[in-house]
Amino acid sequence: MDNTAMRAWAEIDLTALRANVTALRACAPGAGLMAVVKADAYGHGMVPCARAALEAGATWLGTATPEEALALRAAGVGGRLLCWLWTPGGPWRAAVEADIDVTVSALWALREVCAAAREAGRTARVQLKADTGLGRNGCQPADWPELTAAARAAETDGLIKVTGIWSHFSCADEPGHPSIAAELAAFHTALAVAAAAGLDPEVRHMANSPGTLTLPESHFDLVRPGVALYGISPVPQVGGPADFGLRPVMTLAARLASVKRVPGGHGVSYGHHYVTPGETTLALVPLGYADGVPRHASGSGPVLVAGKWRTVAGRVAMDQFVVDLGGDAAQPGDEAVLFGPGDRGEPTAEDWALAAGTIAYEIVTRIGTRVPRVYVDNGRRVPGE
Ligand SMILES: *Cc1c(COP(=O)(O)O)cnc(C)c1O
Repeated sequence: MDNTAMRAWAEIDLTALRANVTALRACAPGAGLMAVVKADAYGHGMVPCARAALEAGATWLGTATPEEALALRAAGVGGRLLCWLWTPGGPWRAAVEADIDVTVSALWALREVCAAAREAGRTARVQLKADTGLGRNGCQPADWPELTAAARAAETDGLIKVTGIWSHFSCADEPGHPSIAAELAAFHTALAVAAAAGLDPEVRHMANSPGTLTLPESHFDLVRPGVALYGISPVPQVGGPADFGLRPVMTLAARLASVKRVPGGHGVSYGHHYVTPGETTLALVPLGYADGVPRHASGSGPVLVAGKWRTVAGRVAMDQFVVDLGGDAAQPGDEAVLFGPGDRGEPTAEDWALAAGTIAYEIVTRIGTRVPRVYVDNGRRVPGE
């Protein structure tokens, strides 16, 4: 099927994704690259993006939840794979049996993975996560000696192998922030404590996209970019994607569902927050907040229709929003481009982030399941899975 008959679609440019992997590897030449494909690859489709990243030389894949990691395995995706967001009673045994490296931040998790290793009759691959200042997940420095010692004991018992030690920055997207040096120093301390406990991990890693792009001293053995893989700058105040050699991967577009003349003084969409200033043409874009178009971008979101940037007129509704074409002509079925790489004159995800008071991460990640992903490689449609 081509997209002439589609209501809306998110085109995913796998060529751009692979080029972004290549660019990020060049930023961190001494390190491997873990492609972070959590949250359905930030809305781009987890399995096709994971495969493309591996083709381009990613050495690891990373997900937040074990369910995401297991879904990659169920789709036949091989290679090293780490997940990090566990809750008690999680699918430890399934993860161990699927050759997934699991993250442990606390003793309860170490106990659960050891029990799973015993049941599975195999050694679990475990990575220990240190809280070096983010204050989110990870083991506090005060508890780190006990956790590393217990992990070493489990290694000696043959239950686990500690394959990695890692952490996550709090403010890497604010280059020069004093927390960055402090967190790097805390990570070096955590590594020294782990070494003193007898651990000898394969990989030490800390860098997310901003770390990969702006902080060579954070690269260690592996970098873990997410958003930059998808061609979005993690530091828009420093530079856009092109400044880092990246290209946005997702283009969100729709077909106009209605084009009609209306008189001046006509209210538009719920609450009548927009009123036509004179006789005009209104076009209906069949995407709404249920598709991930932020309602906070009511009256401000940009969209390319009939060759020009327009602004969402009035409120974004659940399934649709309206744009005022002024005196310009359009037809039902004409393309409306909400965002893309920007080189056809269309807005970018960053423009929507500014319009909605959020970050571009949230714009792409929230594009809903009702919007089909259409994969393109070297300018041609390819199957998704
Ligand atoms: C999401 C995530 C990343 C990737 O972050 P980006 O800023 O998108 O590069 C890396 N590591 C962890 C632990 C994450 O949760």
